[in-house]
Parts: sequence; C-alpha cells; structure tokens
Amino acid sequence: MQLSYRPYPLQLQHTFTVSGCSRSQTPDVLIAITHQGLTGYGEASMPPYLGESIESVCDFLKRVDLSTFDDPLRTDDILSYVMHLDDDEPDAHNFSAKAAIDIALHDLAGRILGQPLWRLFGLSPERCTYTTYTIGIDTREVVKQKVREVEGRFGRLKVKVGVEGDRELIRSIREVTDLPLTVDANQGWTSPDEALEQIQWLQTQGVIMVEQPLPKHDLDGLQWLTKHSPLPIILDESVQGPADVIRLKDCCHGINIKLMKCGGLAPARLMIQLARMQGMQVMLGCMTETACAVTAAAQLAPCADYLDLDGNLLISNDPFLGGMQVIDGLVTLQSAPGLGIVPISESFGFSEKEQ
Ligand code: MG
Repeated sequence: MQLSYRPYPLQLQHTFTVSGCSRSQTPDVLIAITHQGLTGYGEASMPPYLGESIESVCDFLKRVDLSTFDDPLRTDDILSYVMHLDDDEPDAHNFSAKAAIDIALHDLAGRILGQPLWRLFGLSPERCTYTTYTIGIDTREVVKQKVREVEGRFGRLKVKVGVEGDRELIRSIREVTDLPLTVDANQGWTSPDEALEQIQWLQTQGVIMVEQPLPKHDLDGLQWLTKHSPLPIILDESVQGPADVIRLKDCCHGINIKLMKCGGLAPARLMIQLARMQGMQVMLGCMTETACAVTAAAQLAPCADYLDLDGNLLISNDPFLGGMQVIDGLVTLQSAPGLGIVPISESFGFSEKEQ
C-alpha cells in the first residue's frame, strides 16, 4: 500500500462566524492510499479549536508505515495500529490525521469490494433524514439573504446562536422562512437558567433541537438543563470519542459525532452503538470539509436522528466530484463503490510517500 498526502487549504464561501471565532479558510490535508491500482481518498480538516495543524497532521502521517500490511480489507488491524501510534504522547491530538487514514482505508475497501460503504455497514439509505444548512452569525440583512438563497434546497436550517442578539437573529429568519430550525450555541450561554429561558423562547419559534448550550465542562449545568429543557439537548464540544458517550449519558439527550473529532468511521460506528444502547439520540456533523469527509460521514446517515452534513457546500474549492448529494433537503447516498467520489484533477499533486 502506498500513502500520499498534500496540504490543501479550504476556501470558505462566506467568512464564518460562530460564538468565539471568525475565519475565511480552514487548513486541510488530502490523502490517498493506493493498492494494486485502486485508490481510496481521505482528508484531515482542522478547524483551529481542535488543536491540530497542517504540520502536526503531516508529522503524524510521516510516521504511518503501512508496508507491513498487505491486505487493505483487514481494516481492524490497520486502524488499531494507526489509533495507537501516538500512545507515547499523552497530549497528542491527532484525531483528524487518524480520521484521514480511516476514511481513505474504508474508501479503498469499498472500491476493492465494488460496494458503497453504507452497504458494507448493512444500512438502508432510504432512512436518511434532512440535513441542516448552517447559517453563521451575521447582520440581519445578510442572514435573511442567506436564508432566501437556500430555502428551496434545504428542509431544515441550523442557526448559530450564543451571542448578544440571538432573538433578533431568530426573528429575522422567521420573517423569511417557516422551515424547522436547530440552534447551536457553541457553549455561548453561561448559566443553566439563561439557557433554559432561551430554549423555552426558542421552542415558541419552531426550533426543534439545541446543540451545546453550555460550556463543555459544565456537566452539572448540562445535567440540570437536560432534565428541564423542553427541547432535546445535543452535545458537540463536550464529546470527542467513544468514552464520552458513556460519561455524558445523563448530561444530554444525544451526541454530535464528527469524524474529525473521533478519528474516523470505525470509532464513529462504535459511538453510535454506545449511544443507542443507552437510549441517546445521534447527530452526525462535520467540519468545513470536502465532499470526501462529508460523504464518509454520510455513509452513517441512516443511523442518525439529526444530520448536519453541509461542510462541502460551504467551501469554494472542493477538489472532488460525486459522493453524497442533498436532494430536496434529504441526504441522498449513491451506489458507486467506496465513497463514490472522483478527484477533479487526475494529477492530484500529492507528494508521494512510498510504502
Ligand atoms: Mg456544533
């Protein structure tokens, strides 16, 4: 197997503002794993708050030696080797780098077997629900314009809240659409009382779910809020990997799983199982990513109650065609092998690393 990779900064269509930061680019590294003429693609997307960088991802990928593995279908062995590569660095945050390998290896396995990943996972694509489209924090007029632009194409919108002027923002959106809304406070409300008051008002405005209302470590506050909230509370920043699903059982109604946080499809599938065992809801989210990682997450969409898989629609330089589509607002899976994505340019410009 041959691993190659290249940094590929993602350009955002609109400067993206959420509670806490604002940016117009996301660092990203594209990877390819090739075996006997077939190639699987993966990527690591690195929003600043995850603690990874192009340098840290490339450093991690340099250490990955796939030469001892001659069967790409033995994904369990390969991925557990990758998952434990940084065990000697207790503070390492290499989850997006690991996700890149996991995604590329799954894509390659699907291509070898000639099947889409959702089929290898035993899932039914008609179970996919609506994806939200995210509206970032902006002026009232810009927000209304963004909503008008996407209203016919999406069945649900996600609104970033958690800053001054939340209610004005929601009222502006309600002037132009009746679509169900989800909100993401990104830890922006500071007390459980404030959060509950906001949530009660949001319920009157057709909001159906609330993401990360309080700071990620305020588990007492989240537990109290979960007991009292009239809307489902889904945690995102509080959740990284499988162990958190058990830890947070009483602090939320559900969890937002993202491949870049947990390290790929294998841990994401485990998180779904753990959540379901405990009666928790499941949301699948993404970062700003290309069609590669968004399509990878979408392979698990039949398992999710909420989908927020719009990351590739927020960038202007997606290097892939094909993969998951949003049709009438619904996540729609394709039947092409693996992820079913095709790089726009054959000469992808990877700096090849022979294995
Ligand atoms: Mg979120």
